[in-house]
Amino acid sequence: MAERILTGIKPTGQLTLGNYIGVLKNLKKETERGECFYFIADLHALTLPIEPEVLRQNSIDLACFYLAAGIDTKKANLFLQSSVSAHAELNAIMQNYLYMGELSRMTQFKDKSSKMKESAIGLGLFAYPVLMASDIILYDANIVPVGEDQVQHVELTRDLVNRFNNRYGEVLTLPKYEMRKVGARIMSLSDPSKKMSKSDPKGDIFLKDDLTTIRKKIMSAVTDSGSEVKYDVENKPGISNLLTIYAALKEISIEDAEKEFVNSRYGDFKKAVADVVCNELGAFQEKYRQILESKEYEKVLLEGAARAREVANSTLKRVKKAVGLLNLE
Ligand code: ATP
Ligand code: MG
Repeated sequence: MAERILTGIKPTGQLTLGNYIGVLKNLKKETERGECFYFIADLHALTLPIEPEVLRQNSIDLACFYLAAGIDTKKANLFLQSSVSAHAELNAIMQNYLYMGELSRMTQFKDKSSKMKESAIGLGLFAYPVLMASDIILYDANIVPVGEDQVQHVELTRDLVNRFNNRYGEVLTLPKYEMRKVGARIMSLSDPSKKMSKSDPKGDIFLKDDLTTIRKKIMSAVTDSGSEVKYDVENKPGISNLLTIYAALKEISIEDAEKEFVNSRYGDFKKAVADVVCNELGAFQEKYRQILESKEYEKVLLEGAARAREVANSTLKRVKKAVGLLNLE
């Protein structure tokens, strides 16, 4: 069977260098492997409070960023999750095959709800992995490119698929996650013990930051004691994060990146990192601006949704039949 590749990003805030390195940068290459389904996870964005106008703007921005990543829209279907109603329908079925205990152990849920009063935690935030599993299952996706933080959710999807198939036969496709070897978890520049996240923007580099700001942020990134540029996550988390960013963007190994800076001081090293980041994001921003202006994303999203609906509705029918729902139309 040809590969089916699926990935989603939430329009919850401004995209970060973490999203770019972890996922966006690689999506163009993925289109050579099979049919791709790339979506704007706007239903997932509702799991935490967000202003309607912000959600609208973020969704448009995200569509432009996907396209600026150079994906070939003949091979990759780009669409809004909310344009394909099968996501919500499959979610309603699948919520019966994942359990409260499993969901309450999810790290993302614990992180995101930890500062909230229990009475203010939405059910959607808790049930997030059910919708994510439905997203994956609908497209018979066998490959799911993600950053490290989403691995747990794909693993849970695998548990769900196995559970479902044991009960009803080989109905669903078993997915597997794929992570970048270098750059699956980019850390905050001001606190390298924390993941760079768009909804917690301390120490983030935003894809829309102007290049002077990006340079400043990198030059003032937290470094560590000592003076050697060495990859040592425990003792040198700041330098290790910068080395990861450098290696990921240049598509070289961490060891090769280290070798380039054996005799460098922190200041020179940071300047080299800033050059690489500004170089790559400068070109990327230029493409983003052109796409935003031309509004070409509108047509792409409509066409992408049409194809996504075709595939998703057929999986939904299969699932309904398997569980005993009458597919009368
Ligand atoms: P939020 O704070 O709203 O959860 P986020 O920055 O974590 O935002 P998501 O929309 O949740 O972004 O994730 C989109 C994709 O980007 C996922 O595959 C996720 O694993 C990946 N990703 C997110 N942050 C990083 C990071 N710091 N490094 C590498 N990949 C990342
Ligand atoms: Mg996230």
